[in-house]
Amino acid sequence: MTVSSSVERVVIIGSGPAGWTAAIYCARANLAPLCVIGVPRSDPAPVLPGGQLMLTTEVENYPGFPTGVTGPELMEHFQRQAKRFGTRICDDDVVSCDFQSRPFVLTLASGQSIRASSVIIATGATANWVGATNELRLATSGGGVSACAVCDGALPVYRGKELAVIGGGDTAMEEATYLTKFASKVYVIHRRDSFRASKVMQDRLFASPNAVAVWNKRLVNVVGDERIEAVELEDTVSGARSTLRVDGLFVAIGHSPATRFLTGSGVSLDEAGYVALSTRSSATNIDGVFAAGDVADAHYRQAVTAAGMGCQAALECERWLAAKGIH
Ligand SMILES: Cc1cc2nc3c(=O)[nH]c(=O)nc-3n(C[C@H](O)[C@H](O)[C@H](O)COP(=O)(O)OP(=O)(O)OC[C@H]3O[C@@H](n4cnc5c(N)ncnc54)[C@H](O)[C@@H]3O)c2cc1C
Repeated sequence: MTVSSSVERVVIIGSGPAGWTAAIYCARANLAPLCVIGVPRSDPAPVLPGGQLMLTTEVENYPGFPTGVTGPELMEHFQRQAKRFGTRICDDDVVSCDFQSRPFVLTLASGQSIRASSVIIATGATANWVGATNELRLATSGGGVSACAVCDGALPVYRGKELAVIGGGDTAMEEATYLTKFASKVYVIHRRDSFRASKVMQDRLFASPNAVAVWNKRLVNVVGDERIEAVELEDTVSGARSTLRVDGLFVAIGHSPATRFLTGSGVSLDEAGYVALSTRSSATNIDGVFAAGDVADAHYRQAVTAAGMGCQAALECERWLAAKGIH
């Protein structure tokens, strides 16, 4: 799309559950939002317009779909609903933001720029992957590799099975603890000989008789054609290779918020790089700039919470525009 030289009332950056929900609410409020949906990227992790759910198969926990829905199908519904009310789409990436001037100026990867009275940042956070052979292929094809235990752990394919979790921080302990409810055994594989996680999280996990720590091992290969059959590990001390048979692999080594394009914009980030919000609000430290979804939420990281935050940001943005007399 060729970008208009007029000032947009609201620009939404990102097209995951948060971005599309913000677009639905802004569009129904007659704000004619422009949604910059992003372009496909694969480095360091895959990112697609439509967001993280484009990388998964079954979504069983999004309300309103009693028999489940695939991630891409769900995002297609979001997009159609946003377009139905007049959301305009720009298929580009925002590479930098000038929030010091008014109107704000957003620069796109194509070199064009957009002027905007208000902005909703909904660029998400990508799960970090180890980079082992077959890991991403099996993660994106429903082959038993996942980056979210709360999302996928309860699926029938993992129940009563032996599973592996990669990681040693609090998130890995939380994910593994969740999986112990369904799995017959949960191996927690870590490249060092102690976990970084808090003692209380470790105690909670290892109170479960089916949790087993596997020390000093690095994941090098996920064995399996259509589905995972085993993981190949390398000992970080001796270098020896071994194979562990498992029916599922959960990678829990953190997330990277998509905030690099905010460098120099003046928007406050927290120590982990997520957008810092005012308590119970989607407002950032910059008047007229709001944030929603995983880009500002390292805690819940669910589609439904991201969508809820998108709604909140749109309502707050609409009120902000009205208070400024921008119609
Ligand atoms: C494998 C996997 C399975 C999952 N399964 C489930 C599940 O079953 N249920 C559940 O509730 N949650 C699940 N989740 C989590 C869920 O996907 C996220 O919580 C949710 O997608 C977050 O939505 P979001 O809108 O904040 O961000 P995202 O979905 O990450 O969307 C971000 C968007 O921003 C765009 N973007 C990024 N940078 C830029 C830029 N500079 N310019 C323009 N656009 C940009 C991207 O292209 C993308 O469209 C899963 C996650 C993963 C990784």
